[in-house]
Amino acid sequence: MTDESEADAILSVRNLEKHYPVRSGLLRRVTGHVKAVDGVSFDVHEGETVGLVGESGCGKSTTATSLLRLEEPTGGEVYFEGEDITEYGSDDEQAFRRRAQMVFQDPNSAFDPRMTVGESVAEPLGIHGLRDGDRQRRIVEDLLERVGLSADDADQYPHEFSGGQKQRIALARALILNPDLLVADEPVSALDVSVQAEILSLLDDLQSELGLSMLLISHDLGVVRQVCDRVGVMYLGELVEMAPTEELFANPQHPYTEALLASIPDPDPRNRGDAVELTGDVPDPSDPPSGCSFHPRCPRVVPPADYDFPEDSFREVLDFRLSVENGDVDGDEFASPADVRDEFDLPPELPDGDADAVISAAIEDVLAGDTGAAADRLGDAFETVCEREAPELVETDAGHPAACHLHGAASEHAPPELSASDDD
Ligand code: ADP
Ligand code: MG
Repeated sequence: MTDESEADAILSVRNLEKHYPVRSGLLRRVTGHVKAVDGVSFDVHEGETVGLVGESGCGKSTTATSLLRLEEPTGGEVYFEGEDITEYGSDDEQAFRRRAQMVFQDPNSAFDPRMTVGESVAEPLGIHGLRDGDRQRRIVEDLLERVGLSADDADQYPHEFSGGQKQRIALARALILNPDLLVADEPVSALDVSVQAEILSLLDDLQSELGLSMLLISHDLGVVRQVCDRVGVMYLGELVEMAPTEELFANPQHPYTEALLASIPDPDPRNRGDAVELTGDVPDPSDPPSGCSFHPRCPRVVPPADYDFPEDSFREVLDFRLSVENGDVDGDEFASPADVRDEFDLPPELPDGDADAVISAAIEDVLAGDTGAAADRLGDAFETVCEREAPELVETDAGHPAACHLHGAASEHAPPELSASDDD
C-alpha cells in the first residue's frame, strides 16, 4: 500500500494523462498533441459505482483504456489495490487483466459471428487456463442465467439475439473470470431507450450481488444517475467536478455541470423555465482555450473585478469582445450603435456606467471601421480570470470539489502586471 492511493480504494487514478501526438506535413512530424486526458485523479472504492460523464470527445473512453493500460498512459499513476499497475511484472499484469474487465458500447461488434454464444462467453476461461469443457459449460450456463438469459442460449449464435440481449451476453463474458472491477463504457448508448433501463438495472443488481466495483461511463446524466454512487464530470480531458450522485444533481458547483443538467429534457413544461443553455461545440483538444477551457462557452464566466456586472450578464460582453477580436464584426453591416447592441444581445445600457462607456466607445470604433481599436479597448477592459488561469479542483462550500474560479476566490486574482497578451 502506498501513500498516494486511498486505503479502501480498489482503484486510485492519479494525474492520469494521455496525450496523442498530432502529425502533419510530408514528413509526418509531430506538430502538437491532443490532450485527450490531461491530469485526471479519482478513486473507486470497494463495491462502489463511480460514473464519468461529459459530452462526446471530452476524454471518457481514453480515461478508461488508459487506466486499464489497454493503451499506455503518457503520464500519471494508477493504483489497483494500492499497487502501481505500471510496475506490474507479467504475472501481476495477467492477474490484473483477469480482475479488471471492460464492456463496450456496441454489442454487435463484440462477438465473432461464427462462434456460439457459449463459446464466446467461455473464451476468457480458456485464455486464463481453465480448459475443462464440462466445467466451462456449467459456468457459462450459470452466468447466462444471472444476466437474464437461459442456459440453452449457449448453443445459439449472436445474430439470433437483439441488441439488449447481446449486451447481456457481453456482460456474461466480462464477468466470467469473476472480476473485482468492471469498467463499462457507454454500455447502453447503442440500445433502444426501452431496453436501456433493463440493462442498467441488471448492472445494478450484478454489482451488488457480486460485490463488484464499477466505473460507468456515459454521456447521459440520466444513465449515471440511475446506477452510480458518485459521479465525476469531465470537460476537455479534465475532471471539473466530482460529487455523490444526488448531491451533484441537487447542488452542482461547476457551470458546465449546471449546463449539462439543464440540457436533460424535462417532460414537465413547467420546469423548462430559464435553463442554462449549453451552446457551441467542444473545442479542439489539440488547441484548447487558455485558462479554464470552458470559458468560451461558460454562462457564468467571471467578470473583471474593476467593473460591477449584474450576475450572469458578462457572457454577452465577452462574446462581443471575442467576436470583435476574431474579426467577425463588420461595421458596415450596422446603421447605429443600437443595432450593434441588438445583434450581440447587449442591453441598451449596462448598469455600470464605466463598463458601458467602454462598450459605447468600442461600438463607435467598430462603426468607424476601426475594429483593431475596438479589440484593444475591449481586451484591456474586459479580460477575465477565466481566460488567464486554469482553475484548480478545490473543495467548494457544498462539500465536494469543483474546478471553477467561482470557487477559487476569483476576486482575489490580481490582474496581470502587463495586460498585453503574450499568446499568439
Ligand atoms: P469520449 O469517450 O469522451 O467521447 P475520447 O476519449 O474518445 O472521448 O476522445 C477524447 C479526445 O481524444 C477526442 O478529441 C478524440 O478525438 C481524441 N482521440 C481519441 N483517441 C485518439 C487517438 N488514437 N489518436 C488521436 N486522438 C484521439
Ligand atoms: Mg467514448
